[in-house]
Amino acid sequence: MPPGVVSFDLDGTLWEFAPMMDGALAAAIGSLERRHPELAGRLTVADLHRHRELVGQAMQGTLEQLRRESFREALKSVGGDPQLAEWLGDELLAARADVVGVHSDVEPVVDELLARGHVVGAITNGNFPFEQLALAERFAFVVHAEHVGEMKPAAAPFRRAAELAVADAARWVHVGDEIGTDVEGAQAYGMLGVWLNRSRRPVPEGVHPDGEIASLHELPDLVDRLLADR
Ligand SMILES: [Mg+2]
Repeated sequence: MPPGVVSFDLDGTLWEFAPMMDGALAAAIGSLERRHPELAGRLTVADLHRHRELVGQAMQGTLEQLRRESFREALKSVGGDPQLAEWLGDELLAARADVVGVHSDVEPVVDELLARGHVVGAITNGNFPFEQLALAERFAFVVHAEHVGEMKPAAAPFRRAAELAVADAARWVHVGDEIGTDVEGAQAYGMLGVWLNRSRRPVPEGVHPDGEIASLHELPDLVDRLLADR
């Protein structure tokens, strides 16, 4: 059987988003307090979430722009120098890669898919600095949807991935934790959509994933079964 392509969503699929982001925000606050001890205890993770939410309601921009603007607002709110926001944004990005808890099934399954000859890549709506992880060396492509102008489930990020992999959508399995974004988006583009349902939620009505798995360990055999029919 000729190999296929397996693309993964990142946040919520290869790791849990909230603990990664909370850990990274706490680390960024730690960096700020080491550089400016006079600000120690002035900002909390909850404060940074609140400022990010307000900025998201007030303006448009990339995830990175919104985050940095929210840092400017947070710094201003405690009498800090808003120009520190750029530096703090860099600290946060670095911290995200440091604190992320990649699920234990990711590496062995990526290796197994590669051993079976498949191409492995990622398609994300987020801005996690994936290339900072050693794991990224095994990925043939990483598409950040906001860089191609449309978020999943729109076609553009899937199209970009297919261009990068120089592969046919018909022999492509996309795996993600969000039914509407990942499964339906991939299916609309002609790819197979597999729902990674780690918490075993019920499948919403009217949605028909090509496969549903509770752990990535089920994925390599599922991919081979799905592609055998194509
Ligand atoms: Mg996700």
